[in-house]
Amino acid sequence: MKLRTIAIGFFALLLCTAILTTVACGGGDDDSGERLRVVTTLELAADFVRGVGGDEVEVSALIPAGADPHTFELSPGDVALISQADIVFANGFNLETATIALIEANIRSNVSLVKLAEEAAARGFETIVGDEGGDTNPHLWLDPRAVHFYGGIIEERLAELVPGKEDKFKENRLDYARELNDATAYLAQKAAEVALGRRVLVTTHDAFPYLARAIDFEVGAVVATGPGQEPSPRAVADLTQVIEDRQVPAVFREPQVGPETDVLEQAAADAGVEVCVLLSDAFMGDVESYTDLVRHNADELARCLGG
Ligand SMILES: [Zn+2]
Repeated sequence: MKLRTIAIGFFALLLCTAILTTVACGGGDDDSGERLRVVTTLELAADFVRGVGGDEVEVSALIPAGADPHTFELSPGDVALISQADIVFANGFNLETATIALIEANIRSNVSLVKLAEEAAARGFETIVGDEGGDTNPHLWLDPRAVHFYGGIIEERLAELVPGKEDKFKENRLDYARELNDATAYLAQKAAEVALGRRVLVTTHDAFPYLARAIDFEVGAVVATGPGQEPSPRAVADLTQVIEDRQVPAVFREPQVGPETDVLEQAAADAGVEVCVLLSDAFMGDVESYTDLVRHNADELARCLGG
């Protein structure tokens, strides 16, 4: 059975090769061989681009699922992907600084690098400055309203590069916006299960001010002070204090975050509260799309803080 499938596949391949000059093969679409090569930094951005680009784009993310974009460093093999890209989408606002530096060094001179968060801000999405002051917090996408901006930017850029597909990209973007609205409604419904006094987020790194603003929560505390920093007893004691003062019923780790998780878990153990999981910069396990990420976070907020 398997051999037969291979034989048929091989025959189809031969046939395709023979007629490749006149008819495109494999996709069933006339122009399937002409797909735009899109490179993104985050898996999240790849998901947005697939949502808008559909069959017209071939998307590769440089930062793999589960990796921390703040600290991830590319391998030399990724350079080829960058130098072959027709367009590159990043987030920006210093989220993925090392990755963007490598993109800028290797992108072809006529190819655009689009920083979605910075572009969304330029188009009117209201950003939040980080605790330290000065720098804009880059995690805009955790407010689903920002992703509508991202979608519009992606639609425009793809339409410029693939003439005649404007209507298709618009249709895809509107379909994606409907999915986004469903996930957003679910998030609002789950957030409403959390009483006002319990709407406090304690997390490993400062990723959630946009989510908090969107659903009327508050960021109570974050562990991270800088990437790769070792946990100190002082940090554990400070965090335990916040958990007790605010009577926080649960804290949230993020799967891609490293050493700060130890501080969070130790403080949670000391205060006797649960450690739950919120997704921020990376997908995890079964969660391989942005709308699934929103739903996961909605479920986790209701499960861990609800009541
Ligand atoms: Zn982050």
